[in-house]
Amino acid sequence: MRRSRYLLPTLRETPKEAEIVSHRLMLRAGMVRQSAAGIYVWLPLGYRVMNKIAQIVREEQDRAGSQEFLMPTIQPAELWKRSGRYDGYGPEMLRIQDRQERDLLYGPTNEEVITDLFASSVRSYRDLPKLLYHIQWKFRDELRPRFGVMRGREFLMKDNYSFDVSAEAARHSYNKMFVSYLRTFARLGLRAIPMEADTGPIGGDMSHEFIILARTGESQVWCDRRFLDVDVLSLAVNYDNADEVAALVRRFTKDYARTDEKHDAAKFAADVPEDRRYEGRGIEVGHIFHFGTKYSEPLNARVRLADGGDVAVHMGSYGIGVSRLVGAIIEASHDDRGIIWPEAVAPFAVGLLNLKVGDSACDALAERAYAELARAKLDTLYDDRDERAGTKFSDLDLTGLPWRMVVSPRGVARGLVELRRRDSEDAQELSLDEAIEKVRASVADAANVAEAGA
Ligand code: ATP
Ligand code: MG
Repeated sequence: MRRSRYLLPTLRETPKEAEIVSHRLMLRAGMVRQSAAGIYVWLPLGYRVMNKIAQIVREEQDRAGSQEFLMPTIQPAELWKRSGRYDGYGPEMLRIQDRQERDLLYGPTNEEVITDLFASSVRSYRDLPKLLYHIQWKFRDELRPRFGVMRGREFLMKDNYSFDVSAEAARHSYNKMFVSYLRTFARLGLRAIPMEADTGPIGGDMSHEFIILARTGESQVWCDRRFLDVDVLSLAVNYDNADEVAALVRRFTKDYARTDEKHDAAKFAADVPEDRRYEGRGIEVGHIFHFGTKYSEPLNARVRLADGGDVAVHMGSYGIGVSRLVGAIIEASHDDRGIIWPEAVAPFAVGLLNLKVGDSACDALAERAYAELARAKLDTLYDDRDERAGTKFSDLDLTGLPWRMVVSPRGVARGLVELRRRDSEDAQELSLDEAIEKVRASVADAANVAEAGA
């Protein structure tokens, strides 16, 4: 992409409405613009990142045996009346009437719609288990939308729903999602810790929140820092082997990790050696629940058994805050110059700068670099604007692209470009071929790490 054509309205000033660093950087880097309180326009750069995150989420959902489909954002109130949640959900729910005066709502979550779908389309225990997910916008009329996309009113969520014939089978589905979440967050470059959590209005009896430790988080958490030492992606997992998956879950639930609703100070002090105790804030990036027959009973989602009887199916639901993750990753990965994208979610792999636009030798080498990067399938943002070098450098640091490739009068006579990683101070002068090969190898390495263990 040529920077001169790209809609990337970076800001030099720090917007004063932004309280936390990720919100400031997302506004300054031209990723989002607020449209109304807690409602955002995703500009091209921000949308690329969100799509990359969604794709990793999708791959790990699929790997764990789930199927993607799509439910609508607008739901009939009638279903929520049947489940008993219509009144209880309260003012967070955006309630709407159509011209026939039928009650509708903008979905804050989808248990009712999917349970009803299941009831009308699956009949037999032989069709179970089923794990179905979608990546869809939600609306919750949050009392205090803040921190940009971290607590929006409209936000993008991956929500998965599992259906099983028994509580024991449902436990396997829960465990599969648990492990897939560990892998998903690790691939996003995050260390998310599964913490015992309350089930809240969704209900149920087994629940974990996946939390990344960050000073700006809204959750108060206590945990054993040992969680941070495990290299999740190196662990092999066979999702079809229930014992193996359960063993992995045990491994990640044996150390203390709880949010405030579940915290037990005496147990924390007894179980965790002082030098490993973390007590502080965290950002909830995912939340998984097992809730048994809470929705299948009232919405009549039952399957026939081999002996001729029938049972209400055992269900769970599993959410990931896809749009929140964009902010959460920035909270975890930035410096005083701007964002530092992990390679896996970077909007472009390379920022290509031509420091002397109009100089024929520089223009020729930069154009050649741009063409060859494209041929190597490396997404490149090519800053071809006639701007001061300082502006180009600071813009590129702000937007956080993992690699910076600079064409300047200094190296151009020898056909050299300067290559530097965003997270390092060391620059290298290389031939164009060498530079491209270096970036390509690094991107390929990141992809291989992602495939390990799976
Ligand atoms: P929170 O405690 O942060 O309000 P929640 O427990 O209400 O979240 P869930 O119903 O568990 O949220 O939703 C699943 C995921 O969706 C959360 O883990 C979070 O990552 C994301 N999410 C929830 N609310 C918001 C929001 N207002 N803005 C952005 N993401 C959100
Ligand atoms: Mg939650």
